[in-house]
Amino acid sequence: MNRVYIKTYGCQMNQRDSEQVACDLRSRGYSIVQHEEDADVVLLNTCSVRDQAEQKAIGKAGHLARRKRENPNFVLGILGCMAQNRGSELLDRLPDLDLVAGTQKFHRVPDHLDNLIASMNAQGPRPTSILDLEEELDSQNAINSHKAGERQVSAFVSIMQGCNMKCTFCIVPKTRGPERARPIAHIIQEVETLVANGTREVTLLGQIVTSYGRREIPFIDKKSPFVQLLEQLNEIDGLERIRFTSPHPRGFKEDLVEAYGRLDKLCEYAHLPVQSGSDRILKAMNRPYSVDRYMQLVRDLRAVQPDMYFSTDIIVGFPGETDQDFQMTCDMFEEIGFDMAFIFKYSPRSGTPAAELHDDVPKTVKEERNQILLKILEKQSRRRNASLVGTIQEILVECPARKGEGMFMGRTRGFRKVIFPASQRLIGEMVDVEIEESSVTTLKGRLSLTGVDTGMAVAT
Ligand code: SF4
Repeated sequence: MNRVYIKTYGCQMNQRDSEQVACDLRSRGYSIVQHEEDADVVLLNTCSVRDQAEQKAIGKAGHLARRKRENPNFVLGILGCMAQNRGSELLDRLPDLDLVAGTQKFHRVPDHLDNLIASMNAQGPRPTSILDLEEELDSQNAINSHKAGERQVSAFVSIMQGCNMKCTFCIVPKTRGPERARPIAHIIQEVETLVANGTREVTLLGQIVTSYGRREIPFIDKKSPFVQLLEQLNEIDGLERIRFTSPHPRGFKEDLVEAYGRLDKLCEYAHLPVQSGSDRILKAMNRPYSVDRYMQLVRDLRAVQPDMYFSTDIIVGFPGETDQDFQMTCDMFEEIGFDMAFIFKYSPRSGTPAAELHDDVPKTVKEERNQILLKILEKQSRRRNASLVGTIQEILVECPARKGEGMFMGRTRGFRKVIFPASQRLIGEMVDVEIEESSVTTLKGRLSLTGVDTGMAVAT
């Protein structure tokens, strides 16, 4: 009764939350299995950002409920955003659920499973639990919660929860609650522990990381709490790279832009969600910046880091988006030359202000706009990757490549994926790789023999 499978939907934040639940469960004697069919307990860590994601998880839970009817000892739980968003309504729809735990109650999952299994063993009544959904940020618990016994060359570190913005399309403020920051000291302690166990790169996570600590932590020398955190992380010996997601363009004030020029571990890659290239639509989305301001920010970042890579989020087909609005998005998209983008076709999320608007852009038009942007993105990504052929890039070696004997995968500071022949002992090392080939998504190369210990036998 102690084999648990956790299926994660959605974003990196959810992946990080699942890691934490897995670690908590392991420390209670549960084992985490890689295949659903080997498990006695299946937990679905869900996403509510789009209706499709919720429907997928509900469909999966309905399917698993059939297994439960065949095997009464099988345990099924729903965690995360959908649990937070829908709460007890889920039990009406899925009466076979044993556990519903919102985004702030992940750490209580082991207690509930212990109780549930104890009552099943005693053949007592089987409790169905909704762990109350109100806020609670369990910061200290995160420090030792990374995958036990596994070296993570690159690790996610959650620095805050929630969001106080009110983007009209977004359900996140409802599912994750208001902004709460972990103390800087706890985050530093967590990263130092990770680095001692072999981590070389961290990605700081939060729904709006650039707002980190703005209520709890004072500005010092005009530097925001987020920049103070970056500065302290930059001082950690053995940590090589710092990334973060998701920021808000509004959070990129002078202190953060300037940090890109002076913090050597802060990678020259910014995920800057723009959402639309039309001021009219940005206003309807309640995004507090103009396209001009956003473009200026991109220029400012390029002024301190000419090699900056940019990725973004775009929503196509927001209510009222005309051909002209969309054309403005295309123009901006090409002018900035995004290297990566997550493009979403708008769908209303109940409980958000935009759901009250008439969803007037036909599905076919949304799909067409989606395809147009994807084509532009493909062209831009191909061009950027091709420009790297013949250069030598600093790569953090992450793991064996999925395909190819003796091939390994790593990333550039600009987050481009590179495949090259190497050896196991280079995992976690920084190496120089000469780029020889490129495609839209991947670069291929070979270790550069100048000035680095390649860990490879060289035939003479
Ligand atoms: S800033 Fe991001 S998380 Fe917050 S409401 Fe807007 S889209 Fe949602």
